[in-house]
Amino acid sequence: MILDLNFEEICQYVENMGEQKYRAKQLFEALTLGKTLEEISNLPKSFKEKIEKDYPKYEEATRLVSKDGTQKVALRFSDGSIVESVLLKYKYGYTVCVSTQVGCRMGCKFCASTLNGLQRNLSAGEILAQIIFFNKLLGGTLKERKITNVVLMGCGEPLDNYDNVTKFLKLVSSADGLNISQRNISLSTCGLVPNIKKLADDGFSVTLTISLHAPNDSLRKTIMPIANAYKIEDVLKACDYYFDKTGRRVCFEYSLISGVNDNDQQINELAKILKGRSCHVNLIPLNSVKEKNLLGTARKKAYVIAGKLEALGISATVRRTMGEDIEGACGQLRNKVEAKHD
Ligand code: SAH
Repeated sequence: MILDLNFEEICQYVENMGEQKYRAKQLFEALTLGKTLEEISNLPKSFKEKIEKDYPKYEEATRLVSKDGTQKVALRFSDGSIVESVLLKYKYGYTVCVSTQVGCRMGCKFCASTLNGLQRNLSAGEILAQIIFFNKLLGGTLKERKITNVVLMGCGEPLDNYDNVTKFLKLVSSADGLNISQRNISLSTCGLVPNIKKLADDGFSVTLTISLHAPNDSLRKTIMPIANAYKIEDVLKACDYYFDKTGRRVCFEYSLISGVNDNDQQINELAKILKGRSCHVNLIPLNSVKEKNLLGTARKKAYVIAGKLEALGISATVRRTMGEDIEGACGQLRNKVEAKHD
């Protein structure tokens, strides 16, 4: 699929096809704008026929639009795989939340993405396609891009698909393409320690977000199987390493699960382990998933917890809820669409 290729690789591809060099720019632009082959008017029919087999084919399976401007789409790729992506509207622009895998194998007890395990990794181009889809929908062009920010917080574990995700980061931030700066990209991970370090060593500088969700290993193990592989202490050391290399403040996500990780003692413990770090805590009252028997902490209590953390010297906010009328926690839309087609 040629959406996986960067500009230099597209030049090579066009050359291999025996076409003239200037066609590369036209093709690359059409790909980045999300044009279908039929919509491309400046390429000859003979060339289009040659590239048809390599041209990206993805389609909207379902799209939900919220009153507040949030949109959720389920995209279907050529092999029938479905992934979901979300468009969030903020004062300063639009953020797209992308999926990085079809399903997920991390097995977090509260997450819908993991219900059927991992089907496959998404390629770099398939991750990019989710942004291109919304940019096109909003009438964005290359000069006037509508999407300003990207978060890798959809289905899948980005650092479990390291090569494709990092290729995607290069593609989306490249000056030839959408040119979205790494400063405006957040990568969320459940904490694959070696790959956090690798990300820093490979020179990336995206905002690193860690799904912590518990202040100690014994509790974390009960909700996140990855805690059996990496201790919180080692995750935090990897975060320090990332901060030292990139200078980027690390963000911690803490999904508040009623009666599981939201009592005073646990919040004190959380403040204690994060103390002295340049970081921010994002509190997210759990979005209940039908198949899982867990409830979110009340929003009111979440604000109290944020206040408590602030008082203990830890910067904290409660995640705004957006698109509540079309809500569905991570992976729920995709599961719904798949169930309909089963
Ligand atoms: N695999 C990555 C990205 C996934 S999802 C990660 O673990 O970070 C983005 C965030 O949503 C993660 O913090 C994840 O733990 C959280 N999440 C998943 N299901 C949720 C739910 N039902 N309610 C609230 N947060 C949830």
